[in-house]
Amino acid sequence: MIDVKNEEIILNICREKRVRLVIKREDLIHPFISGNKYRKLKYNLLEARNKGAEGLLTFGGAFSNHIAATAYAAQENGFRSIGVIRGEELEESVDDNPTLSYARSCGMDFHFVSRAAYRHKNDWEFIRELEQMFGSFYLVPEGGTNTQAVKGCEEILQPEDAEFDYIAVCVGTGGTISGLINSAKEHQHILGFPALKGDFLKDEILKFARRDNWSLIADYHFGGYAKINKELIDFINDFKRTTNIPLDPVYTGKMLFGLADMIKNDKFEPDTDILAVHTGGLQGIAGMNQRLEQKKLPLIDV
Ligand SMILES: *Cc1c(COP(=O)(O)O)cnc(C)c1O
Repeated sequence: MIDVKNEEIILNICREKRVRLVIKREDLIHPFISGNKYRKLKYNLLEARNKGAEGLLTFGGAFSNHIAATAYAAQENGFRSIGVIRGEELEESVDDNPTLSYARSCGMDFHFVSRAAYRHKNDWEFIRELEQMFGSFYLVPEGGTNTQAVKGCEEILQPEDAEFDYIAVCVGTGGTISGLINSAKEHQHILGFPALKGDFLKDEILKFARRDNWSLIADYHFGGYAKINKELIDFINDFKRTTNIPLDPVYTGKMLFGLADMIKNDKFEPDTDILAVHTGGLQGIAGMNQRLEQKKLPLIDV
């Protein structure tokens, strides 16, 4: 059992609108397998062991939290790990990429593929080719979402969280929100903040979620996955200054920006209690700051 604390934060807007906002600090689970990636890997690691697998193979992009988490968890649990990475050009720059060099330091072997080839990641022909290259392995899907992952995420909410009216979480592949949906109390509503553009997420969630106590708030993706602007960076830096809680720019920063904006616009009644799940992802800040520097944008304070 890991013990995760809930931390109440007092933003001016919360005081003004009398809305209580509490952060579930899943980001403190571990600096690299933080938050939901720990939850999502837990039962996959057990399953891999039960199946007698020697290695884990998974997929991800250049700054993937899931790649970093899988590499670490594989090493900790005595598995070999293979990362199929989107973008052939990255092969030349592993040393300069904080996420990939971390994963490599955990012993992960990489297989770099073009964006076109990466799209076939779920095709059996592609998987068979990988098996020919690397031998047999336990396959963890991109972002880690499968039935085992959802089961792990059903353990995020604890009995004492029953006091909250809303549970907020960011959504990438939909595994984490599905776990929350399945384990929430009768009176609770789950708000998902997609980190990417598009309507397909609803169908992904419906594959795993067993109830209709949820909605997606699609207004705060900032143009798409990993897209950010100065307003978001300023928000993340201000948030850290006022609360001492770091947010990542791809997921949790967008969710908290969205929640603060919704509170400001009276989307919640006074005396509403909101629990926002901090899903971690802080390892991605270093890579984002490299890109911000190139674009001459302000950096995220660390
Ligand atoms: C991966 C990730 C998510 C998205 O989780 P899904 O289960 O894919 O929806 C949210 N927040 C952080 C920090 C993540 O790394």
